[in-house]
Amino acid sequence: MEKTLSIVKPDGVKKNLIGEVMGRFEQKNLRIAALKMLKLSKEEAMSFYAVHKDKPFYDSLTDSISAGPIVVMVVEGNDAISMVRKLMGATNPKDAAPGTIRADFASDIEHNIVHGSDSEESASFEIPFFFSLLEIHPVVA
Ligand code: UDP
Ligand code: MG
Repeated sequence: MEKTLSIVKPDGVKKNLIGEVMGRFEQKNLRIAALKMLKLSKEEAMSFYAVHKDKPFYDSLTDSISAGPIVVMVVEGNDAISMVRKLMGATNPKDAAPGTIRADFASDIEHNIVHGSDSEESASFEIPFFFSLLEIHPVVA
């Protein structure tokens, strides 16, 4: 069992896609082990995306992720990290495979609906960024 952190970003919430995103995960036998809705401050967004601090898109990325409420979740299952990444599609919706969340719904690379941890290392930073141990409910088989 693997855990990953996924986010329905402000554009996804605005487009009414919370249930759509969670439904796609659930259909692939992934489980939602923790869930909350919140709004990041600019500063919180900067620390969440600190890995991108030297990228040219850092300022606009942290503006857009803090522009409105988001839904954050811990997703659990076999190969959860790569499964969620596969369901999301490529970062730029123009390159995303048909049938992926980003291909189906994203308007552009900055507004691409969904986040998913890209590695075990990222997941182990991103999950405790949002959730304490007491808030995570591992699925009992
Ligand atoms: N992003 C952007 N411009 C770029 C690359 C990325 O606005 O040229 C945004 C995009 O919203 C992306 C986020 O920054 O989802 C994080 O980038 P990353 O490369 O980690 O992509 P992801 O892991 O989300 O596919
Ligand atoms: Mg990433």
